Amino acid sequence: MTEITIDGLKKTYNTEDSEIVAVDDLDIEIEDGEFIVLVGPSGCGKSTTLRCIAGLESITEGEVHFDGRVVNDLRSRDRNVAMVFQNYALYPHMNVEQNMSFGLKLSSKLSSEEISSRVTDAATMLGIDDLLSKKPGELSGGQQQRVALGRAIVREPGVFLMDEPLSNLDAKLRAGMRTEIQELQNDLDVTTIYVTHDQTEAMAMGDRIAVLSDGILQQIDVPEELYRNPTNEFVADFIGSPSINLFDVEVQGQTLIGPNGFTYEMATYETGDHRRLRMGVRPEDIEIDDSGSELAVSVVEKMGNENFIYGQLGGKEIVARTDASIRPEPDDQVGIRFDEESVYLFDTQTGASIKTKTDEISPSQTQI
Ligand code: ADP
Ligand code: MG
Repeated sequence: MTEITIDGLKKTYNTEDSEIVAVDDLDIEIEDGEFIVLVGPSGCGKSTTLRCIAGLESITEGEVHFDGRVVNDLRSRDRNVAMVFQNYALYPHMNVEQNMSFGLKLSSKLSSEEISSRVTDAATMLGIDDLLSKKPGELSGGQQQRVALGRAIVREPGVFLMDEPLSNLDAKLRAGMRTEIQELQNDLDVTTIYVTHDQTEAMAMGDRIAVLSDGILQQIDVPEELYRNPTNEFVADFIGSPSINLFDVEVQGQTLIGPNGFTYEMATYETGDHRRLRMGVRPEDIEIDDSGSELAVSVVEKMGNENFIYGQLGGKEIVARTDASIRPEPDDQVGIRFDEESVYLFDTQTGASIKTKTDEISPSQTQI
């Protein structure tokens, strides 16, 4: 229902002794009906971006457009956006029905029949129609978050803005609600910007994902591209769990020389004239091989369906993610191997990607 263009968005906060740049020169184009996730570590500017789009925060520089119209100076309530927060912000003295209808009663001229029917429809959609007369204090965390979602849905907004809405829920419920929110967004087809610091959540939910660091957009892409073809070391390291293994290597011809003499021969990839590089290998790309002795196993985490094998490779801890049938013991020495295709290389100075998993490097939408 709404197409959003963020054009050179900058937001600074002035404190007594300094100026904090919370968001810097952010460009994102979001299609009508798209589900975009903003992800990055705490403090990277996710909430600030969302609040600027919502109109809860003034914009220092740049423009936010809804359907081609600049909304910088439009009041929040005139932007037709609905926000869902981590703390559900429900009114404790009101029951579910009242919590869901309160905003509509204030802000719209809808008849009470129309409001009541919207509330019933949203409550049914969220499976909380039998809770309408309960107070928030009588509800579980998951139920309260459904009420907060319901309150957003009844407004039939053009944009949903969700700021870590699942962070207060336990892991199992969170995974369930993740799917529910995706289904809901699919059904309603409302443009959604969803903020999380959790890369797993981001990867699971987003049509596209925007990775932020220190107020700066690193990359915006579909999950597979972020994983296979990160624009830089930050994105490579942030996406994937356990994280990618990274080493400093020296380049001698086609040989990469790692910590304490660990070497890797690049058979086909031309290493060019770099003398030093950062090398990255994802845990799932490392195979454990009984015949070698590079890795001194320290810990084996048995997950049931797979194992995480931690060990020292030339004094540096790395982790391999293997089949559950591979289970060396702590203190064992095992070999490791990985394909050249799976090797990532980064510039040691800038962190920019030099080699990723894809040979044909398709251009990302945004690169720093
Ligand atoms: P995130 O949501 O990614 O954790 P925020 O957008 O909340 O990050 O914050 C981005 C940066 O802006 C942080 O450095 C934070 O301390 C700062 N910041 C956020 N809000 C304010 C404010 N009202 N006053 C001063 N600094 C702020
Ligand atoms: Mg935040």
